[in-house]
Amino acid sequence: MTREELWQAALAQIQFKISPANFATWFRSTYILSKKEGELVISAPNNFSKEWLENKYNKILFQALHGLDLEIKRIKYTVERSAGKQRDAASSRPMAMPQESQLEFQELKVDRSTSLNPRYTFDNFVVAPFNELAHAASLAIVKDPGTVYNPLFVYGGTGLGKTHLLQAIGNKIVGDVPQKKLKYISSERFTSSVVSAIRNHTTDALRSMFRDLDVLIVDDVQFLTGKDKTQEELFHTFNALYEAGKQIIFSSDRPPKAIPALEERLRSRFEGGMIADISMPDFETRLAILRSKMQEKVVSLDDEICEYVASHIQRNIRELEGALNRLAAFIQLNGKSPTFADAKTLLRSVIQNPSKMVNHKKIIAAVAEFYDIKEKEIIATSRKKEVVRPRQIAMYLLREELKGSYPFIGQKFGGKDHTTAIYACEKITKELQQSETLVDEIALIRQRIYSG
Ligand code: ADP
Ligand code: MG
Repeated sequence: MTREELWQAALAQIQFKISPANFATWFRSTYILSKKEGELVISAPNNFSKEWLENKYNKILFQALHGLDLEIKRIKYTVERSAGKQRDAASSRPMAMPQESQLEFQELKVDRSTSLNPRYTFDNFVVAPFNELAHAASLAIVKDPGTVYNPLFVYGGTGLGKTHLLQAIGNKIVGDVPQKKLKYISSERFTSSVVSAIRNHTTDALRSMFRDLDVLIVDDVQFLTGKDKTQEELFHTFNALYEAGKQIIFSSDRPPKAIPALEERLRSRFEGGMIADISMPDFETRLAILRSKMQEKVVSLDDEICEYVASHIQRNIRELEGALNRLAAFIQLNGKSPTFADAKTLLRSVIQNPSKMVNHKKIIAAVAEFYDIKEKEIIATSRKKEVVRPRQIAMYLLREELKGSYPFIGQKFGGKDHTTAIYACEKITKELQQSETLVDEIALIRQRIYSG
């Protein structure tokens, strides 16, 4: 078996063990670089994929490869940039037209009894460090609803995948066991059902409908703020279901503690099970998600355009998809891929005011100006105290403001190692807890970054 054949055979097995989205994301442009004396070296397209393969997929990779070739005893991972690029170009498919809008079509197919939308599945959900915990908790629940984490409370900013994840849980549970009675409901919808039941004197019917469920999913509970009657109804529904061992899942854009005007007893129910957050994806993850969506929609775009989109849309996966839809529509209309200039024009309204966008250069410039040192000194390797500290602060801000991965941060500071970035971020985070002065300094620097 050649290396190529071995790799294809291993990938064929792995493909069945993980979701298509994760497969496309993490195994894209990988190959076996070398194999000798029981040691196999796999090449990944970037540091981020490499770390992810190493930490998450080493076990299944080893099983597959060792199963195919007993001589293989160890796997190593590396990033072989130039070779990777060449392969990419060779393997990238010819330009394709987008399929007819799958998304809009499926939007109409919301199930009447569960209110689930079939388009949200685990298969098209990309898992990366920013959502890994919430994803793992969700999988545990699917396996054994009502027992492991009850309730599950998922929180995170807008457009970062809460609804997708909650509905994926629902779709998987009823897909596996169709007899399960499951309901997905938004908090607004829940509120209006309660209000109209009260008005029509049908609260008993509403109660028994909810209490008959095996799984109840309530999305966006932050909207229950100040709605006393609805909160009371939810509290009693929760208790009835919980005592009967039924699974309850909530989402919110913030943790329970931070939801204002929420009855204490409901808050403590929210906090009584597992709380999992979805944070923000870093640059490489945004790029990976974009590529996975491109594959889904059968759209191909230049790397330059992908990187432009992933670096400018930072806080919201929905907007990332929106940008891609625009580019896909262009391809459909024109029968060709947009040039980089076309793409910029097309995305002007999505990517508002690029001059206001924060990037690593702006952050470094603001820090340098604040501490009255030269930008060059921040990037260089000098260990002078007047420079080291601002450099650490700048690294910390790249992490916080851009959600840059550690290798990315290291690279922007003259190619330093990712461990240097980790050390800097941890140090500043710790100091921030002890030093009011530092809190103020960083607040001032942030102001400069965003006003500059
Ligand atoms: P939220 O409910 O947190 O506001 P959504 O679940 O509505 O966010 O997600 C916004 C869009 O981004 C949806 O189209 C969803 O399919 C997509 N999306 C979010 N997270 C992921 C992910 N991890 N992988 C793939 N698509 C995602
Ligand atoms: Mg949502």
